[in-house]
Amino acid sequence: MRSVLVVGGGAAGCELAWGLAQRAVATTLLTTSLDTLYALPADAWPCVPPPATLWSEVAAEARDAAGRQRAGPLRRAAKRELERLPHLRVVQSNATGLARGDAGEVVGVRTWEGPPVRAAVTVLAVGSFLGARLTQGPAVEHAGRLSEMAYDDLRDDLRAAGLRLRRQTVALDGDGIAPPYAVEHDVVEADELEPLRVGGRAVVGAGRARRWPGLWFVGACTGDVGIETAAAAGRDLAAHLADATSPVAQR
Ligand SMILES: Cc1cc2nc3c(=O)[nH]c(=O)nc-3n(C[C@H](O)[C@H](O)[C@H](O)COP(=O)(O)OP(=O)(O)OC[C@H]3O[C@@H](n4cnc5c(N)ncnc54)[C@H](O)[C@@H]3O)c2cc1C
Repeated sequence: MRSVLVVGGGAAGCELAWGLAQRAVATTLLTTSLDTLYALPADAWPCVPPPATLWSEVAAEARDAAGRQRAGPLRRAAKRELERLPHLRVVQSNATGLARGDAGEVVGVRTWEGPPVRAAVTVLAVGSFLGARLTQGPAVEHAGRLSEMAYDDLRDDLRAAGLRLRRQTVALDGDGIAPPYAVEHDVVEADELEPLRVGGRAVVGAGRARRWPGLWFVGACTGDVGIETAAAAGRDLAAHLADATSPVAQR
């Protein structure tokens, strides 16, 4: 069975890693911080987990009396469920660029620590963190959603490899958000990706890099994708990659 490396432990990456490991695919989930696995957009969030997901499995223990999802309990439950899967290795690290083989093919990622992490298939689920800048009044931070730290290395490497990216801005100035702030970040240009298809329908938020067949993108790094959509895209990509990496499919 071939291996899969998932970079980024938000909703998309956690669902993908969970779905693969459940299907006995050797999977590594590499993310900047294990404390921020499965981050909701905010605490006490009124959302409905998509069916057949890690999130739907643990939603009951993360639900408050008003039926909203609580961020802390969801993170704890997601971490517990991921860490107990025998086929999944969960690693805290930061991917700084793509690792490439002799023919330029993607064979994993390079990391801050030095040694590359290799896999047959690499999936970037890096959300709103590619070249992210959070602006609040006169202050500008290198940060993505929830003010989590963003580092530019991976974005710079993708750009140097020739992948076309575009800027996207999420501005938050609505009810109860004071002071207002905005996060600007890169996403992959849509025509760089061949969308994942399930039953003839294109899945929103998941696509394979046209120029590097071993590289996929899932979740908010593909465009304007909310958390339920990111989770569903991770779920659907897991089913697809498990089929595609099975010994039967490789014959
Ligand atoms: C300001 C803002 C507000 C938003 N508000 C909402 C909202 O109200 N409702 C909604 O549905 N959606 C909202 N979104 C969209 C939100 O990003 C998605 O809903 C959801 O977080 C997408 O999940 P994801 O897994 O794709 O990405 P993320 O949740 O962003 O997860 C990406 C993960 O990848 C990790 N990572 C990034 N780079 C690296 C690297 N180089 N190496 C290792 N790990 C890395 C990050 O640490 C993070 O854990 C908002 C986005 C922003 C920016």
